[in-house]
Amino acid sequence: MLHLILFGPPGAGKGTQSKLLISKYNLTHLSTGDMLRSHLKEQTALGKEAARYINQGLLVPDEVVIDIIKHHIESNPHANGFIYDGFPRTIDQAVKLDELLTGRGQQINLMIFFDLPDSLIHERMRKRAEVEGRSDDADDQVIATRIATYHQKTKPLIDYYCAQNKCAQIDGAPSIEEVSLATCHAVDGLIKHE
Ligand code: ADP
Repeated sequence: MLHLILFGPPGAGKGTQSKLLISKYNLTHLSTGDMLRSHLKEQTALGKEAARYINQGLLVPDEVVIDIIKHHIESNPHANGFIYDGFPRTIDQAVKLDELLTGRGQQINLMIFFDLPDSLIHERMRKRAEVEGRSDDADDQVIATRIATYHQKTKPLIDYYCAQNKCAQIDGAPSIEEVSLATCHAVDGLIKHE
């Protein structure tokens, strides 16, 4: 069973690339951002709690997202594999994910890192705010906090997965098609060696 992490700053194209990978490799999409937004929309207790963090550009507490992910992995026993999008975002989340998978006799196969300079991140998020109307994309201060949080809390995960020899770095700046080609190349190499 494939376990792929799509990694990178906000706006790097994780959502777009995950859609393409899901249909090509028949994988189940686990996006903590989408899951949290659906809680927000339904106004659940968890959603109300998460909104306080999301609207400021801060990370939702680790326990909250780990529980959500655990629930979704356990409720998809027949999945062909999973794509983690926006998770893990802290070392603690990565450690907990490793523990969870080890307990099931599985492991992360690859972390695909879409690299993008901060200037492009800003530009893409402003564009996305116009198209999707996400409140956390519209405010410059919130965007700046999310980029800072990414550098501070999330980027250390690159070393975490590189140390396990599980990191593939892809330039996220070119067109969707070019990024997709490079991404599929990395996944195909992985499947060949399985
Ligand atoms: P982005 O487009 O910035 O990658 P997402 O759609 O993945 O954002 O997530 C939106 C917000 O939801 C984040 O800014 C954060 O507040 C919260 N969030 C999503 N995933 C996680 C996670 N794994 N850990 C903590 N908070 C998360």
